Amino acid sequence: MLRSTLALTAIAIATSASAADRPAISLTRLDCGSALIKDFNSFFSDTLEYPSGPRRITDSCYVIRHSRDILLWDTGFPAALKGKPMDMGALIASIDRTIPEQLAVMGLKPSDITIVGISHMHGDHTGQAVDFPAAKLLIGKADFDLTKGPKDPFGPWRGAGAKVQTMHGGDIDVFGDGSVIALNMPGHTPDHMSLLVRLASGNVLLTGDLYHATEARQMRGVPPFNTSRADTLASIDRFERLAKHYNAKVVIQHEPRDIAKLPAFPASLK
Ligand SMILES: [Zn+2]
Repeated sequence: MLRSTLALTAIAIATSASAADRPAISLTRLDCGSALIKDFNSFFSDTLEYPSGPRRITDSCYVIRHSRDILLWDTGFPAALKGKPMDMGALIASIDRTIPEQLAVMGLKPSDITIVGISHMHGDHTGQAVDFPAAKLLIGKADFDLTKGPKDPFGPWRGAGAKVQTMHGGDIDVFGDGSVIALNMPGHTPDHMSLLVRLASGNVLLTGDLYHATEARQMRGVPPFNTSRADTLASIDRFERLAKHYNAKVVIQHEPRDIAKLPAFPASLK
């Protein structure tokens, strides 16, 4: 499966427009909340190799502008948490600013978002998706199927004719020109995705939740809440080979130390 996935990526990139033909794209980080993890070690390490005690993680979303298309990558915690932190047992979740509030600072409306890309089905990535019902939804197929039910975060995309593009078993060239590739990185959830963004200034890899912290990348760490340990480790292998091949800046979406790898909001990397 790994070999066929690499081949698909090669085809997608080889048949796409050359870098000079692509429209200018930009990448902006949004703050989509944070979570105080009460015991970082037991929550995130299935081998108990991380520091113990409480630690705060960030919850990042990203806006990728590509000509007139705008991709929102991940949608953070629900807007309802603003001003009302929620104790969920092992963690306390909160948000300071909603995505529409941050889009307004960028001169954008929710209806300007043309694609909502969801790295995976967990609630800290799907919380504000419903606020962008006019966008096309891009998500792993199994993650989309598994979230049906009473707490469905993707209600606007369930009906006949809904604009949904699902991934299973291969990468997706989001804009058709090789500039942004949704990468098939299963393991954390069945059809988890990471994102390669090829900017004029260099390549960036957004992890999704392939890693949750710097330690996870250093130690090839896997959290206890994970669909397949073997698939996660295979995805880590592939991700690191892509990072090397593309000389990419790797941004771990939940790592507060990685916020400074991109310009401070509302500035963007181009
Ligand atoms: Zn997750």
